Amino acid sequence: MDICLLGTGGMLPLKNRFLTSCYIEHEGKGVLIDCGEGTQVAAAKAQIKISRICVILLTHTHADHITGLPGLLLSIANTERTEPLNIYAPKNALGVVEALLKITGKLPYRIEIKALETREMSTMRLDAIDPMLELRALPLKHSTICLGYSLTLYHKRVFLPERADELGVPLRERKTLHNGESITVDGKIITPEMVTDEPRAPQRLTYVTDTLPINEISGFASGSELFICEGMYGDTEKKKSMNEKGHMLMQDACALAKRAEVKELWLTHYSPAEPDPKIYKEELRRIFPRVKISRDGQKTVI
Ligand SMILES: [Zn+2]
Ligand SMILES: [Zn+2]
Repeated sequence: MDICLLGTGGMLPLKNRFLTSCYIEHEGKGVLIDCGEGTQVAAAKAQIKISRICVILLTHTHADHITGLPGLLLSIANTERTEPLNIYAPKNALGVVEALLKITGKLPYRIEIKALETREMSTMRLDAIDPMLELRALPLKHSTICLGYSLTLYHKRVFLPERADELGVPLRERKTLHNGESITVDGKIITPEMVTDEPRAPQRLTYVTDTLPINEISGFASGSELFICEGMYGDTEKKKSMNEKGHMLMQDACALAKRAEVKELWLTHYSPAEPDPKIYKEELRRIFPRVKISRDGQKTVI
């Protein structure tokens, strides 16, 4: 999966900082998480092909996460795309999403809106991208209903013809094993596992923003190559007012990453009152050494 953090700002965009949004591409198909004002400009700056977006995941209905949607959809319409586009959102957000769709007018592609459960974690396959890509949505704790998202790409076992030869599997029977069914050769049962290798470990990306640092997040993010998490402020004196608003500090994100034992943490959703989050780098590294003070347009591959 190719990942690009399009924007790292929370609340309001700054001259050099777009609002929080993340783009993930797998085999030419894209997933966009959140779409604040100006996301389409951030995508153009990062040289992302917006026509590839097949799925948009919205975390919640606050303006800094959703108001870029009509403009982005209109820009996608300009690319002559005709394939349907799926928008996933918490089920309480559907009224807002539909209202935003009203101002785009008729689009040359179909939009399918999927309502997500907001009381407990839900899990589904993102067939529009790859049937092996799993999406989990975790209800967070914010001033409105908000979901965290985790994408896990599983891998198929690779068929080993030399192993099938050794076991005397006739060519005409190999398709059955390929499809995951066992066969019998000379009275011996041959299972698909006997003629395939160990599957590669799955890749996981977890994106959590606009929430108190609730315990559930560390279990949710566990096993992630990359954990992208809100770091609204680094000034620990802001902790009380942060918690009242349903946000967390950069230090909270580092503690969650440590507990989840993720490979890398990228901070995002900085307050406009934190123009230079790098000043907290050393302090944060003492909590979780593999933290990155992300900047707009930061890319990686997992
Ligand atoms: Zn926000
Ligand atoms: Zn919010």
